[in-house]
Amino acid sequence: MSELRKFLFDGLPVRGAVVRLTDAWQEVLRRRASNTTAGAYPVPVQSLLGEMTAAAVLMQSGIQFDGALVLQIFGDGPLKLAVVEVQSDLRVRATASLTGPVESGALLAELIDQNGQGRCAITLDPARKQPGQQPYQGVVALSDGEGQSFGRMAEVLQHYMRHSEQLDTVLVLAADAQVAAGLLIQRLPVKGEANLAGQGSEGEDTEQADTQGHNEDFNRIAHLASTLKREELLTLDIDTVLRRLFWEEGVLTFAPLTGESGPRFACTCSRERVAQMIRGLGVAEAESILSERENIEVGCEFCGQQYRFDAVDAAQIFAPPGSLPPGSQSVQ
Ligand SMILES: [Zn+2]
Repeated sequence: MSELRKFLFDGLPVRGAVVRLTDAWQEVLRRRASNTTAGAYPVPVQSLLGEMTAAAVLMQSGIQFDGALVLQIFGDGPLKLAVVEVQSDLRVRATASLTGPVESGALLAELIDQNGQGRCAITLDPARKQPGQQPYQGVVALSDGEGQSFGRMAEVLQHYMRHSEQLDTVLVLAADAQVAAGLLIQRLPVKGEANLAGQGSEGEDTEQADTQGHNEDFNRIAHLASTLKREELLTLDIDTVLRRLFWEEGVLTFAPLTGESGPRFACTCSRERVAQMIRGLGVAEAESILSERENIEVGCEFCGQQYRFDAVDAAQIFAPPGSLPPGSQSVQ
């Protein structure tokens, strides 16, 4: 079963988390494979999306925030877009869309950054928005300052965390057809810094944290973390990973988050939301579709659910409030 484990290093300004998605990740892949139009992901896209999914769970687990963390990449190449959404209660969904064939063994640059146009966006979308409130969003290139493309998602996110959020971070990510897994090690933020984890972080005692990148304890633990091989991450259980890497450190682990309190596949789509989208298209566009076919059909990219609206449903969507005959139900 999918599991997330958070941990701290006793007395040190360093925290970590390990995630191992099994059933949740397999469900993402199963739903895609059963989509007869799009079909299963090519292996390089499967790996990339799995790594992004593990990373998004790890990032969501490190912040205290009520809403969705959305991690997405878009750019130029056969992969057009990959999106992962993790709610604060760890419900997960993910999808990717392709525009052309993918070479086996293709890395990030070949997939989505062929001309340096690729971008990674991290968005915090609050569950309850204040009027006029914009979601928090950070956007970075998929290459470093010198224009050198990053080979892997972990490098993009480490770079983002260090440079945009001032959080020293080590990430190890790996995914195959069965497992999407990741390890995150992060130096606790210095008080008052404005960043993803700057508010309400678990670290109370951050006085001892010194200048970014110059913390001996963090550097030692970061080095240990970076020795973790992707193969180990895919095959070993969480306890074994932590024991192998940090047996000389005082690791304090929190209770495992699994089952209904752990990372799990769930889609937030609904008939009401699709109705709202159709309302957004406008009555003319909806009527034009219905003049050519019986239903307006909308499929959810994340879970494969098909929503159908016939002419009667559409009339309800565009009916002014209060104009419906008694006993009929408005599609809101
Ligand atoms: Zn859905």
